[in-house]
Amino acid sequence: MNKKVRVRFAPSPTGGLHIGGMRTVLFNYLFAKHNNGYFILRIEDTDQNRFVPGAEEYIFECLKWCGLEPDESVMHGGEYAPYRQSERKEMYKQYAEQLIKDGKAYYAFDTPQELEEKRKTILNFQYNHASRNEMKNSLTMSDDETKKLLEENVAHVIRIKMPYDETVSFTDMIRGEVHFNTSQSDDKVLLKADGMPTYHLAVVVDDYLMKITHAFRGEEWLPSSPVHILLWQYLFGLENMPHWAHLPLILKPDGKGKLSKRDGDRLGFPVFAMNWTDPKTGELMHGFRERGFLPEAFINFLALLGWNDGTEQEIFSLDELIEKFSIERVHKAGAKFDYEKAKWFNHEWIKRLPVTSFQLQVKQLLQNAGVEINDDEKLKTVIQLIKDRCVLLTDFIQQSSFFFQSPKEIDINAIKPKWNEHKKQFFVELIRTYQLATTWQHEALENSFKEIAAASQIKPGDVLLPLRIMLVGGKFGPHVFNIAEVLGKEETINHIKRTLQLLQ
Ligand code: GLU
Repeated sequence: MNKKVRVRFAPSPTGGLHIGGMRTVLFNYLFAKHNNGYFILRIEDTDQNRFVPGAEEYIFECLKWCGLEPDESVMHGGEYAPYRQSERKEMYKQYAEQLIKDGKAYYAFDTPQELEEKRKTILNFQYNHASRNEMKNSLTMSDDETKKLLEENVAHVIRIKMPYDETVSFTDMIRGEVHFNTSQSDDKVLLKADGMPTYHLAVVVDDYLMKITHAFRGEEWLPSSPVHILLWQYLFGLENMPHWAHLPLILKPDGKGKLSKRDGDRLGFPVFAMNWTDPKTGELMHGFRERGFLPEAFINFLALLGWNDGTEQEIFSLDELIEKFSIERVHKAGAKFDYEKAKWFNHEWIKRLPVTSFQLQVKQLLQNAGVEINDDEKLKTVIQLIKDRCVLLTDFIQQSSFFFQSPKEIDINAIKPKWNEHKKQFFVELIRTYQLATTWQHEALENSFKEIAAASQIKPGDVLLPLRIMLVGGKFGPHVFNIAEVLGKEETINHIKRTLQLLQ
């Protein structure tokens, strides 16, 4: 590639960022970094009615959590600032006027009421090549009439004049040749009555001004592409147009239709990167981060929703993804969302990463659950001991709380049915031996446990589960003697004594 690669993610701040959006971010980022290019984040906030406070900040936080920092953005600055379309308002008008001069667009003076009336009376009314001749616009009015209305500042919009029955074609990097008939599209508004551009004009002008070389976006934008291609042709010449790629949809787990924001709640899994609370309704949408996912796993999972490197490899770090990613290997077909697979990735990443890379998150989770942590070294040891059995970071709460505070409940009913005097004597002896122990290390603790069992003619297996329940409260946790080692002598003995009393 001879031109410096510049790609953009261009969200409208209208709500939380669901995983489809995050995957678009990721593919843009990977492509940019693979080609030593730039990843730009542009806020497309031209539709003021849909603006949602907090959405922009939320998008930046999601990207930060995933480590997918833009090179240029509202937050990061850059040569092509401003990166928020509402702040670029004045730039777009001249392009809309240029289109009028060239006969590719026109002024339309129809009032919202008049348009509403048409929609009411004509089924599926479209402002297009057929209907535009009956409407109030600069094509049906004389030049003088138009001029007069413009001078009087009569509210108007600028619409593209879609050609009749022509074919617009372009090469999509994922789909290959794509063709559209221009008559299928209506005469989209380019500049609104309030002077703001619509998305269609702004996206083309900004991709041009920001020297975007590749535009990757969701498949839902494919139907708009002929309008964008025509605008490129009219304003800047097709040779300057970015290469397009429309990314496949993320489908519901059963493959039937697009995964919607509602599916998460319905099926019990998150569809947002992070928790998102709708400021108007107060409704909470669950996020992968709060569910206990590591960013490494989330990214790995997202990358494989519609892409693979052609081998059986499934675990990829961000650096490996950057190295291996190619847009041509993104599938055309939609990718099925699979929550169990997402959890599998998380488990794999918990096993692989060093404790230090998520110790702080676990500490926060424990503290939020009311478990106080005063000893970071001990926490590190505990995490190391249990991490292989934790699928989500939230699993660390159950698996490790008992190391830091006595279990609130002891599942005494799991011991009672098989409890007898013989077993009690065993534990009395165990306490005596442990009290005399000079080293407190799991192998030695296990050895003396077995010796006492042998001497008391008791099967070690019969007293192991009671010991586990005494130490952790229930039937879970890592190897019992590892637990005892980390708990320390005093705590271990206290736990046993306490349970013996409960069993009286
Ligand atoms: N603003 C559009 C969106 O919200 C961006 C589409 C594009 O990337 O062209 O998704």
